[in-house]
Amino acid sequence: MRRKMAAGNWKMNGTEASLAEVDALIAAHPAPACEVLLAPPATLIAAMAARARGTKLAVGGQDCHCAASGAHTGDIAAGMLADAGASHVILGHSERRADYGETDAQVCAKATAARVAGLVSLICVGETEAQRDAGETLAIIGGQLGGSVPEGADGSNTVVAYEPVWAIGTGRTPTLAQIAEVHDFLRAELSARFGAEGAAIRLLYGGSVKPVNAAEIFATLNVDGALVGGASLKAADFGAIITALEAG
Ligand code: PEP
Repeated sequence: MRRKMAAGNWKMNGTEASLAEVDALIAAHPAPACEVLLAPPATLIAAMAARARGTKLAVGGQDCHCAASGAHTGDIAAGMLADAGASHVILGHSERRADYGETDAQVCAKATAARVAGLVSLICVGETEAQRDAGETLAIIGGQLGGSVPEGADGSNTVVAYEPVWAIGTGRTPTLAQIAEVHDFLRAELSARFGAEGAAIRLLYGGSVKPVNAAEIFATLNVDGALVGGASLKAADFGAIITALEAG
């Protein structure tokens, strides 16, 4: 049985004052029936983790380096995220793939480093609009999945997020049939490669999930939760998504 998950990605948003939203979220959802994760910018991980201590809220990073330490100015090792109080890390987000040219091999190396540090990786895959229009969606996603998910992945150390690039931050979402097609494909690929361990890896949908569309997305087969960007910044919106996931 895969435990449902609501994960929020704050991206490059938030300062100390934003932690009031975390307090509000914890107060409104002290005992959620699903796993709840927030990934703030690195500057807020320790402070958010301190507020989340003793609660059901998990805290994650938005990226990590593949090395354990060394001369990598501006980068953060997976062990440092864990030291700051993170239990998870988002890897291979399309914004990092686009902004920094991150490759599947780099994402894979980061996921291995995360596992060594005891972090759960949320590995993101997704096609661009041009790739979808060209009928390449499953080929692109299959390649990203195969190249980004390391050997040894299982339900305890890996979550996969399907995030169509064209749906992120745009207010556009795929049809439920399109989401189901990709999630069924991901489930089959992971099961074929990892067997029962692969069947236990949770599949999140991400891309313009909002309180208004969350319930129907969560009712889709093989959707185990959501990776949420903009709507995770406000406790009321993210809370409504959590409630929809609990009910689904
Ligand atoms: C994301 O960036 O992971 C994301 C899903 O963003 P949004 O919900 O804002 O589309």
